Amino acid sequence: MITTEELTYENVKGYRFGYSPFGKPNLSTYIYFIDGLLIDTGQSKVRKVLLDKVDHLPIEQIFITHHHEDHTGNIIPLKERFQCPIYSSEKCAEMMYHPPSISFAQKITWGEREVYHDLIPIENEIKTKHHTFEIIKIPGHAIDMVALYEPTQKWLFSADLYINSYIGYFLNSESIAQQISSIKKILAYDFKVMFCSHNPQLENPKQKLTDKLNFLESSFHSITELHHKGLDQNQIFKTLRWKENWLVKFLSGGALSKMNLIKAVIRDVE
Ligand SMILES: [Zn+2]
Repeated sequence: MITTEELTYENVKGYRFGYSPFGKPNLSTYIYFIDGLLIDTGQSKVRKVLLDKVDHLPIEQIFITHHHEDHTGNIIPLKERFQCPIYSSEKCAEMMYHPPSISFAQKITWGEREVYHDLIPIENEIKTKHHTFEIIKIPGHAIDMVALYEPTQKWLFSADLYINSYIGYFLNSESIAQQISSIKKILAYDFKVMFCSHNPQLENPKQKLTDKLNFLESSFHSITELHHKGLDQNQIFKTLRWKENWLVKFLSGGALSKMNLIKAVIRDVE
């Protein structure tokens, strides 16, 4: 099933695309359009619907926040349709030459992602006719991830920095220490709205991000403490009385799990 929804906030347009192989989707992706700039390209599973939705938009440039397949899934057809430059961070442009393989669970939820060689790397800022967006590096969830910040309007396009205040499973490539410092870095900016790629926060975005910071910091502290006591990852998991989402873990071949949070913290502190 594919679901879509639109959001308007001042002159920002958001388009939500949900896809699920069975029943109602519980995960969806937003792409944003502002002043000729399209931010991210969604997942390939919703390609036809997405292309129809954005067909009328005067897209002059595209910006990719990070290499994950739900952000880069439709670069090629959008390039063909709009013939416009597509920008990203230097790291993202580099990663899209040989993007890491994706698990079965990611394939059935988001779809495949094609390799793309022509991302134009930019640093510092991207301009549209009426706005200048600061490009802010926010690694952790993904090493190449950046946010776009418009200081006059106080808009923050936060990619996957937030997603939710509590996260039930993590990718095996995430760094929790980096996520904590990226969130702290972003909280120092003055923003009134957070255009998250999965869960936009139009009210109290700083509180929401602070809630996530607290969750990550307290998990980080308790895992570190138990690790220093000599407990291994399984013992830490048991002691914290956590529950695993086994279906997600199984379908992803272990690429997505709550155990990955413990592994990431142990990697971070060693
Ligand atoms: Zn992501």
